[in-house]
Amino acid sequence: MNTAIKVIDTLKDAGFEGYIVGGAVRDLLLGKAPQDVDVASSALPQQVKALFKRTVDTGIDHGTVLVLLDGEGIEVTTFRTESGYSDNRRPDSVEFVLSLKEDLRRRDFTINAMAMTENQEIIDPFGGQEDLQNQIIRAVGNPDERFEEDALRMLRAIRFTGQLDFIIDMKTLHSIRRHARLIKAIAVERLKSEIDKIFVNPRTQKSMAYLWDSVLTKFLPAGELFQVDWIPYKSNGTSTFGWFYLLHQQNRQFSAVKEYRFSNEEKRLIEKSLELTKLETWDQWTYYHYSIEQLEMAALVTDNVENLTAAKQQLPIQSKSDIAANGLDLMQWSGDKSGPWLKVWIEKMEKLIVYGELENDKELIKDWFKNEYHRHA
Ligand code: ATP
Ligand code: MG
Repeated sequence: MNTAIKVIDTLKDAGFEGYIVGGAVRDLLLGKAPQDVDVASSALPQQVKALFKRTVDTGIDHGTVLVLLDGEGIEVTTFRTESGYSDNRRPDSVEFVLSLKEDLRRRDFTINAMAMTENQEIIDPFGGQEDLQNQIIRAVGNPDERFEEDALRMLRAIRFTGQLDFIIDMKTLHSIRRHARLIKAIAVERLKSEIDKIFVNPRTQKSMAYLWDSVLTKFLPAGELFQVDWIPYKSNGTSTFGWFYLLHQQNRQFSAVKEYRFSNEEKRLIEKSLELTKLETWDQWTYYHYSIEQLEMAALVTDNVENLTAAKQQLPIQSKSDIAANGLDLMQWSGDKSGPWLKVWIEKMEKLIVYGELENDKELIKDWFKNEYHRHA
């Protein structure tokens, strides 16, 4: 906040306008700490860049420059209007305009279409404060037009219901139902980012009920999967858990949601955690093979109350590299060349050590190996 005000002061000293806008104003009025503070200004991107020492061109084509100041990043965006939404997605071109009001008019909902001066005066041309008071999400202007311009806004409305515990205004909701199919034009990355936010918000169930009611589920990739019982769901703070919960409830494999283009890391966490929920019992070998993250995620839906961190720490070894003997040792002790037998014996040794049946000590491993190997050979 203070940093944003400093940025505004600098803009004003240079003869430009500058306001805090969008979600930050909404959150401040709700008494919440805003996640990120955006500034709208009459200065053009090049003019913004000339005024601050450290800037990053995060979205310069859209008029946005990230100003780095006091260890914070403030996005400064030139007042803009958007024209020519020919395909229900982003605008074909961005026009810079000279007025704050035009900038606010292109925003999605009245509660997100307010600005604040450096003296904390609120500029609210569309009744955002009243809607905030009544806990209503309402499109700015004509909802049909707004959803035709950018269909993602329909999903954003639904995301905000759970995030803020608000309801969607009737006219806006009816318009969403009528335009639901337009969601098909939206890039999956944008869809996923909103769905991710639904999964981490405090009332996922509320957003999910709206998702169903709005018929967006009919047109979203894998949309029918979202219809599960969300009442027992409690976010663990990661969106990955939401995807995992949904697949687990539906008894489905990861591939059912692969359209959403997960990172390899996220995909692996989900797949491994699903695997864990299918195991009948968890023992040392399980704790050894799965990461704490995977175990914790699976435990959230399997009522496993064990202290997983402790269970993992108590293992004699954490990975193969902790074993006091290696493949070369086994080759030397057996006198045999490398071959498929080696992998088999390394795993035997690993398993016994993990289960605590063989001590992780080179001499003891040697004794065990010499005995057993020759008996089997
Ligand atoms: P949060 O940061 O809590 O997720 P936010 O409202 O700040 O919520 P952002 O995605 O950060 O959401 O967007 C910042 C602001 O930009 C919004 O408050 C809104 O004014 C505007 N905005 C964002 N996306 C759109 C959109 N698709 N159409 C119109 N305006 C938008
Ligand atoms: Mg934001």
